[in-house]
Amino acid sequence: MNDGNGIPGTDEERRRFLAYVLAGGTAVSLAACAQDTVDHDEVTDEGLHNPLLWAVAWKQTAAEFAALCHQAYNIARLRIDVILDRRKSGDKPLAVITDMDNTIIQATSYWGYLINEGQDFFDDAAWDKWLPKNLITAVPGSQAFLDHCQVNDVEVFYVSNRDQGDRTYEYALTQLKYLNFPYADEDHLTVNRKTSDKMAIKETVSVSHELVLMLGDNLNDYKRDYYVTDIDERYALMERDRDEYGDQFILLPNPTDGHWVRAIFGESEPSPTDANRRLLKDAATRSSWDGQ
Ligand SMILES: [Mg+2]
Repeated sequence: MNDGNGIPGTDEERRRFLAYVLAGGTAVSLAACAQDTVDHDEVTDEGLHNPLLWAVAWKQTAAEFAALCHQAYNIARLRIDVILDRRKSGDKPLAVITDMDNTIIQATSYWGYLINEGQDFFDDAAWDKWLPKNLITAVPGSQAFLDHCQVNDVEVFYVSNRDQGDRTYEYALTQLKYLNFPYADEDHLTVNRKTSDKMAIKETVSVSHELVLMLGDNLNDYKRDYYVTDIDERYALMERDRDEYGDQFILLPNPTDGHWVRAIFGESEPSPTDANRRLLKDAATRSSWDGQ
């Protein structure tokens, strides 16, 4: 029932423990609750062992994170400029398709909120409550890139898979307008509530436009092929397409969510169970060194 550090071991005990600590309670009373004897000084977890901490701290603070985003958008701009240079009269209009969350819209404060709530896995109900609050920022470099597209008549089509009920579309459009992104209108926004498959919009846009680029933080934003649950298969597909990154598809960094998570757990939004925490540890130690 206890992990040896004074922290309750089962999911229910851990949940009660974190709720208690976050509410300002003392460890001694909780220990009584957990029917265990605990050293007073050892029980001050405060979420200090939350496996999200490294990834979220990186997104919150690392200049390297922002630099990677700028790098992605600098390459995207280069691609646009190369294609603009070789345009001939009569060519189809140009277009890009971009994902929204973690590609142009940054939701880092959601993850900080989850951590403060004692949670260590994505929580859909919390996300649905957080999203309409518009506590968002533009991903570094995204605004300048999208404005560059508009100035050069490259139409931007936004596509997202979100589901916050009947107001899903309204929330998404409001966020595009809130961040002053160009082409923030119903002709340029597609929201898939029931599927993460974004290939239909790719086909539709390609009929009327020359599709120059796609942008996303998830390889599934580019091709549905990547919606597989085998880590090695996903890797092999990525190597197959290696020459297309920075050319056809611009990838933004995201260490907290996406279909790489699905490849580990078999689902994109795994439950916060100890069995899943073991799967996460197994993934992190896939190629381990014995220290010798
Ligand atoms: Mg995304």
